[in-house]
Amino acid sequence: MILNPVDFKNYLYCPREIFYKYVNLIETEPTVKMNAGYQLHKRIEELEKKRTLIKYGIGNCDKKFNFKVYSKSEGISGIIDMLLEDEESMYPVDFKMTESIIIDGYKLQLYAYSRALSSIYEKRCDLGFIYFITSNKILKVDFDEDLISNYMRIKSEILNMIKSEKLPDPTNEREKCSGCEYINFCGDVI
Ligand code: SF4
Repeated sequence: MILNPVDFKNYLYCPREIFYKYVNLIETEPTVKMNAGYQLHKRIEELEKKRTLIKYGIGNCDKKFNFKVYSKSEGISGIIDMLLEDEESMYPVDFKMTESIIIDGYKLQLYAYSRALSSIYEKRCDLGFIYFITSNKILKVDFDEDLISNYMRIKSEILNMIKSEKLPDPTNEREKCSGCEYINFCGDVI
């Protein structure tokens, strides 16, 4: 079973999203919000190519954009918005439109990239960054013991849910549903 790091974020948003994707194999069209986010990502990518790394607080690094990573052993495949790399270390950077209530999901997504990177490359990957585009803020994320144990727990929950094929309850935070790409499949929340 191969998961995309984005699945961790989406699972914390609402487990049903992952159920529909992997059990019902539903493919959705990108929402207006997702398309807007994609355009903004492209713009930020062009700006980041020219910018220094001062705001990240690290020394000189190579920058790679839309870096594909696939690790069979970790069961992870995805695309990293920006990868910073020096002689010894790799730092995944994820671009997000805004700060959000699912910040833990963002951190898990970032850590999933690092798991895949660490399994392939012989470099350290102890921390990464989330770049909040709208506020121009950088969040440094240390891949510490708490994050690692949370990752292992959530990964196990996701895999068990997929294996059981049991539809999870809908989110209690129904305000999330209005912008959800799966709204048409959730008859019990409409
Ligand atoms: S519509 Fe609501 S309950 Fe259904 S998947 Fe989306 S967020 Fe979850």
